[in-house]
Parts: sequence; structure tokens; C-alpha cells
Amino acid sequence: RRHRSQDRLDEAEAGKSVKADEREVDPNTPFANTADSDPALAKNLEWARQIAAKFEISQIGVKGWKDAIVPDEAKLDRILSAAGAAQVAWAQRSATERAEVLLRVAENLEAHRSELIEVAGAECGKTIDQADVEVSEAIDFAKYYAASAKTLESLPGVKFKPAKITAIVPPWNFPLAIPAGGILAALAAGSAAAFKPAREAGRCGAVIAELMWEAGVPKDLLPLLNLAERELGKQFLTDDRVERVILTGSSDTARLFRSWRPDLQILAETSGKNAIIVTPNADLDLAVKDVVNSAFGHAGQKCSAASLVILVGSVGTSKRFARQLVDAVRSLHVSYPWDLAAEMGPVIKAPTGKLLRGLTQLEPGQHWVVEPKQLDESGKLWSPGVRVGVEPGSEYHLTEYFGPILGVMRAETLEQAIEWQNATEFGLTAGLHSLDAEEINYWLNNVDAGNLYVNRGITGAIVQRQPFGGWKRSAIGSGTKAGGPSYLFALGDWEAQDLPH
Ligand code: GLU
Repeated sequence: RRHRSQDRLDEAEAGKSVKADEREVDPNTPFANTADSDPALAKNLEWARQIAAKFEISQIGVKGWKDAIVPDEAKLDRILSAAGAAQVAWAQRSATERAEVLLRVAENLEAHRSELIEVAGAECGKTIDQADVEVSEAIDFAKYYAASAKTLESLPGVKFKPAKITAIVPPWNFPLAIPAGGILAALAAGSAAAFKPAREAGRCGAVIAELMWEAGVPKDLLPLLNLAERELGKQFLTDDRVERVILTGSSDTARLFRSWRPDLQILAETSGKNAIIVTPNADLDLAVKDVVNSAFGHAGQKCSAASLVILVGSVGTSKRFARQLVDAVRSLHVSYPWDLAAEMGPVIKAPTGKLLRGLTQLEPGQHWVVEPKQLDESGKLWSPGVRVGVEPGSEYHLTEYFGPILGVMRAETLEQAIEWQNATEFGLTAGLHSLDAEEINYWLNNVDAGNLYVNRGITGAIVQRQPFGGWKRSAIGSGTKAGGPSYLFALGDWEAQDLPH
């Protein structure tokens, strides 16, 4: 089967590409697409209608979300006491028993895949393909941590004492996989998981929690906390019973938590400013596909997204590469998730501040080769943008924008490209496209980032195979990586035990 972007490139080649900004988008006709003339699409369309009718998604999340509102300190205190008590019983279960519950969670997530996709699209603007991989990732976390739980009991000479309560504070951009991963890690370790969904992803959070309760996770052990105000957040995180925090969010949020409680043990994955280098020894067709997917998947709203591509030597002057990149970006179908043909969805809210600047303003020497356009009155739907002429040290080079913008830099040598790739204060993901073994080794030895990808996109880390976590300001805390072998070890304390003589 040919990859879709190859078709896009061919289309572009034939001069047929449709400019994203010329397309009509009507949010009031959610299922509007070319279904009538395309049997495959018509089938998908019918399927989506059935899902929507069957699950009444808006009802599921809304109810749980409202039930979970924590209005005041007294209620928060009661919830944390109950979580503490539930944790004692949970930690007394063997790792094998806890793992069984996690495996039932995996089954229940799989059984409700369509609802999860639907709620992530409805609430957070995730396109179907992006939401689908999130469900898979959540299931992978459940299976992987279920298997890892047993390792906590297998080390001779030490005893693992799980954190009483682990606070789970995930973002809205991965409203399913990231909360599920944090909760499941905490539960596997024998800790209670007090879950505060992102404000923008409360319904997704409610669905995740409900599916886990249904699979046998005690409700008190996994309280869903929709804190009514920020002061309650402070109370939550400064409560002594909360012994760990799993945070994915901005580095400013991590700093705020630290200011509330300097000794807080945080496992945090924070911001990124990530680049893919493309050398003249790359498979350029593959590079275009991976750059476009990494930059514009979920409208660039991933910590792992590529917001820069650094072209080395002749790639920077290759007309063919430039045309392919521009055409591939222009031909992305930008729409809401309920449009089954959508390849890029909306941003989470109408951009302001930094993101608006990134979408509308250029620095001296830069110009748009694809200019981003606001596509409807909601302000949330933007076509993707590509700016060229990004200079080292410029604001665009060093700032995370978290939206559908890609900047192009041109370097003379691989050494220079790596220097620019490393120049930011962050170090989350980094990519190299090259088929030359020496270049690959050189790059691997010199790049400063947590997740390195060669000849692959830089988003979509796979549990176990690509444990996820950053360096420099992209991580805070122990630096242990989610979906990796040492993650559970950081969710408690270790006590030395006498070994038998
Ligand atoms: N784990 C995700 C990935 O590999 C990124 C998570 C994030 O954006 O925080 O793409």
C-alpha cells in the first residue's frame, strides 16, 4: 500500500495540489466531505455516524466530569484520606494481582476504542488517526507496566515502598495516553493515583477514569479531581500524602509546583523545541513525509513535534526538495476531526500571544513559503505554515510555539546543523535523516536530546521500544523515562534489606 503522502506528492507533482487555505471549511456541517462521490469515504462516514449515535459521547464525559468537581479544601482532604486508605490495601496485593487489574484495564480500553477516539476528537480536536494511536499507546502502557510491576519485587537486598499518593497532572494534547500512562504506572507501583485532568480535557479524563474503575481499579484509589480553583491545586500538591507528581506540561508549570513545594518529587516531561536534520545522504522522499508528519500531526501541538528542519548543504538549495515539502504541506487537508478526511485538526483554542505571533509575524530575513491562514471564525482552524530564512539565535530558532508552524534553516555542514539543533535550552526529541553510517554515528554521539530518531518521524514514541523523556529543560526530576524500564522504580523509595547469609 502506498503511503498517503506519496499520493500527495504525486498529486502535487501533477500540479493538482489544493491549497489548504483555498478550501472551504464549514464547522456547521460536521460530516461534509466528498463522501457522495467516493465509496470508501461514504463507508467511513456511515461508520462515524453510527459511532456518534451509539455512544452519545457528550453524555459520558460530562456526567463524570461534573461529579468530579472538587469545590473546597474539606472535600479535597476527604478524597486524599480515602485515597491513602485505599493505597494501603492496594499495596498489600501482590504485583501479580495488581498486574491482573491493569490487564483488565487494557481490555476495557480496547473494548471502548471508538468512544475514546470520539471524545478526544470532540473535546481536544484530535483527528481520528491521532486519537487512535493514543488509545493504542494507553493500552501499551497498561500491558507494559503490568509486566514491569513484577520487577519491583525481584531485586534482592532491597524492598520497594511505593509512594502513598502519586498526583497525575497531564496535559490536554494527549488527553488519553498521557494520563493513562501516569495512572497505570502509579497503580503498577502500588501507589494511589490522584488524577487531575487538564482543564481542556476533563471529559477525556472522566472517560479514562470511568473505564479504569469499571475494569476493577478501586474508585478511592483513583480519584478524579476537577479542582475548582488554583488554590486547591496548591493544597493538593503540598499535601504530605502526595509523595510523587507525574507532570507533563510546560516548564513554567513545573517551576510553579517547585515554588509551592521545593522538596516535591516530580517526574516531569516539559517543553521542547525540536529539529530534524536532513543531509544530502538522506532518502529525501522519506524525509519530506517524516518532517511533515512530525511538524503538523495534531497541528504541531506535541512536545515532541518538529518545529524546525535543518537542511544541510545541497538539500538547502534543492528545488525538488523545496517543491515537495511545500506541496506536501499545502495539500494537507485541514478540518475538524469529524471530517474523516482531516489530516490536520484545529488548535486547542484561538491563538493568542506567542502562538499568534508565530502564525502571523516574521523576523527580518524570513519569509513564508506556505503562509498560515485562519480558516474560520472560531479562530481555531489554521492552515499550516512554513517559514524559511530562520537564523541561528533568532526568536523562532529558540522558542517553542506549540502550533502548526515549521521553520527552515540552512546549514553548511552537519556539524553546524547539530550545533543549531543543540542550541536551545530544551532537549526532548531530535531527528536525523541520512543513510550514511558515519554521519549517523557522528550525530548520535553529538546530539543533546532525550529521544533520538534516525530516518523516522520524531513524534509517536512507542512504549518500551522508545521510552520517552527529555534532557536539559525538557525534563525535571529523576530523568527516568515513561514507558521505560526504570520508570516504576522512581515511584517509591527503596529500603535496604539484609540478604540471607
Ligand atoms: N509521547 C509523545 C510523542 O512521542 C509526545 C508527548 C507530548 O507531547 O507531551 O510524540
